Amino acid sequence: MVSQIEVRNPEANASRAKVALFDFDGTISLIRAGWFDVMVPMMVEPLLELKTGESEDELTAIVEEFVGQLTGRQTIYQMIEFAAQLKKRGAKPLDPVEYKHRYLDLLSEYIKGRIAALESGETHPDELIVPGGRRLLDTLKQRGFTMYLASGTDQPFMRAEAKLLQVDGYFDGGMFGALDDYKSFSKRILIAKIIRESEYAGKEFLGFGDGFVEIQNVKEVGGVAVGVATDEPACENVDPVKRERLAGVGADWIVPNFSAHDELVNILFP
Ligand SMILES: [Mg+2]
Repeated sequence: MVSQIEVRNPEANASRAKVALFDFDGTISLIRAGWFDVMVPMMVEPLLELKTGESEDELTAIVEEFVGQLTGRQTIYQMIEFAAQLKKRGAKPLDPVEYKHRYLDLLSEYIKGRIAALESGETHPDELIVPGGRRLLDTLKQRGFTMYLASGTDQPFMRAEAKLLQVDGYFDGGMFGALDDYKSFSKRILIAKIIRESEYAGKEFLGFGDGFVEIQNVKEVGGVAVGVATDEPACENVDPVKRERLAGVGADWIVPNFSAHDELVNILFP
């Protein structure tokens, strides 16, 4: 079998690492998989109604472009850009926070079946975890890692979803998400704060994420990082767009999921 693990930095390993920092959505959790297909039409429709002569395909391409560009920051920034696009076409946009609420309502409608199925036990938590994720968390725990969860999703939702997936118990360092005051929160600030306030040096961090922010932050302080280029929801192959962004910020390794557990562990801890 061809290895699924792309080694980008053959010199790197995690033998000095003592802290693991995980992103949540798309890295561990698949509860919110498909959010893109909720957000894009929500924005295309009102833009189309402005009848600027742009076709639905053209507007979809514009929206997909800026939504993709802003992925990894908090949702509000995508809404700020959406409002700017409306304004550019002569409309009077609402406060971007209103659009964020509208989007979260639509998304919660979209994922409520998954949440309900987890609550009732009809879906096993591992069905909505990136393949191999729990086994990796177990391994890191057994190796004595201090573990943190850092997410751009609103903190109360993220914590509830981590609990439903029964992964909350791993994160003895803490589980941190976005707060309402978006101006004083960014994932970048959050991760910098975690690193600063922990008793560990930057080079003792091992990061896992499907977004560039978490990988970039860990690399900036001298840690090592695994880019998780999940093609949600299947997570079978490497998502080329994610891969490109993760490689761009210096991920040491890129994986499509955590199925190649033993191989990954051997690479991380030679
Ligand atoms: Mg993510």
